[in-house]
Amino acid sequence: MVGELAPALNGSALASFRDAFRGPIVLPTDDGYDDARRVWNGMIDRRPALIARAIDVADIASAVRFGREKDLPIAVRSGGHSLPGLSTCDDGIVIDVSRLTGATVDPERRTARVNGGALLGELDDAAQAYGLACPVGVVSHTGVAGLTLGGGVGRLQRKLGLTIDNLRAVELVTADGRQVRASAEENADLFWGLRGAGWNFGIATGFEFDLHPVGPNLTRVLLIHPFSAAPELFAFFRDFAATAPWEISGLVTTFHALPAEDFPPEVAGQLVAAISVTYCGRPEDADRDLAPLTAYGKPVVARVQPQQMAWGHRVYAKSVYVDSAPESLIGALVDEASAMPTGGSAFIGALGGAIASVPEDATAYTGRSAAFEVGVDCTWDDPALDADFVSWARTAMKGIEPYRTTGVYANSLGDAGEDVARAIYGDAKYERLRALKRTWDPDNVFRLNQNIRP
Ligand SMILES: Cc1cc2nc3c(=O)[nH]c(=O)nc-3n(C[C@H](O)[C@H](O)[C@H](O)COP(=O)(O)OP(=O)(O)OC[C@H]3O[C@@H](n4cnc5c(N)ncnc54)[C@H](O)[C@@H]3O)c2cc1C
Repeated sequence: MVGELAPALNGSALASFRDAFRGPIVLPTDDGYDDARRVWNGMIDRRPALIARAIDVADIASAVRFGREKDLPIAVRSGGHSLPGLSTCDDGIVIDVSRLTGATVDPERRTARVNGGALLGELDDAAQAYGLACPVGVVSHTGVAGLTLGGGVGRLQRKLGLTIDNLRAVELVTADGRQVRASAEENADLFWGLRGAGWNFGIATGFEFDLHPVGPNLTRVLLIHPFSAAPELFAFFRDFAATAPWEISGLVTTFHALPAEDFPPEVAGQLVAAISVTYCGRPEDADRDLAPLTAYGKPVVARVQPQQMAWGHRVYAKSVYVDSAPESLIGALVDEASAMPTGGSAFIGALGGAIASVPEDATAYTGRSAAFEVGVDCTWDDPALDADFVSWARTAMKGIEPYRTTGVYANSLGDAGEDVARAIYGDAKYERLRALKRTWDPDNVFRLNQNIRP
């Protein structure tokens, strides 16, 4: 669809921006506009005034200056996977850094340098070429930038720590267009804030990570039980996770066994309960360490399942961190799951291990001592069902609210706003982040994120 040019972009303003900016600029009047504005979550349908597709750091700096001069809302986009659609906007400028791809590995030092628009798959592939890995997320088309700046939770984290625990340095363009580097030695305060609330302080153009020997094969196990076993299965997983080796990460969850042809007749199309774990230790130890799980109950299905989370579906998610998961919490969650619409899931995921071995104050990420993440997520396609899914998810999580501890994983939330940001960081860290925001972005130029108000 061909749209109109925003008034701020008429006349010579756009022409002089075009002179300064070397990458493509996509306007509502251009044919490629609808493709360029599309983000991962199909619920998000925003119409930016322009999309500036940076090809280098200088482009990013000039786009920030242009957005500020024209007083346009500025959205920053990397992998485009933000659940609440924080990497796009109506009537503003999207600074799209997704062309700044690439990851290079130094196998001797076991480090990687990753450009600000790279996807997880690039980092994984570059590192695995040397038998190395950085603990990042589970889906290869997620952006390194958005994930890392919020913490980074995945299948290796109980063993190797959060993504930010393996972050050595970040290069970024700040709100006043400067290029700055932050690490434990340079701008250490900024580095603290970048590790958990990082989207607030600038546009990351490069990351340096530590790598570890991992793989090439991990053991993944999916054990599907009938839904009637859910209360016992959830309690069993809770107890197992409390003492499980750090090499094991995963969750206990519920979902509808669809597409039906992928499941045996006794559960096809039905609501089921399942344990899904990944083991990153030595393959020869996997059977021993996973034995308590594989020996438990009578799973209907036991297999490895690939991850599939394609672009364009409508998605909503909500979760909290808890210190423990008593029977009453499990009962409330399983009750809600029994009434959930097809496409929903309710889960308890294991945290702890190396995540909890870093002191709470070491980074802006909040909730290191939490034992579990408890949450719901929903995927559907029909816009007429938006209200059903969102209201089911919100109601389900209301019942879990009394059990929550300080902290929520910022990247797994479908909502944003000041109250959400306060819940993510807790009052004390939120105030420390505000002070940092006043130093680095006092005008709140970077506000389309889990925003810290200066
Ligand atoms: C399919 C899927 C799987 C996921 N799996 C995991 C997982 O395993 N582990 C996990 O921890 N999270 C996971 N997530 C959540 C994910 O971490 C967040 O959605 C994250 O924000 C995605 O980053 P992005 O770069 O793709 O997103 P974008 O939508 O591009 O950006 C997200 C936020 O980061 C900001 N941002 C983007 N690029 C930059 C930059 N270069 N500098 C500064 N700010 C920037 C944006 O402004 C926005 O606020 C998953 C999400 C999806 C959709």
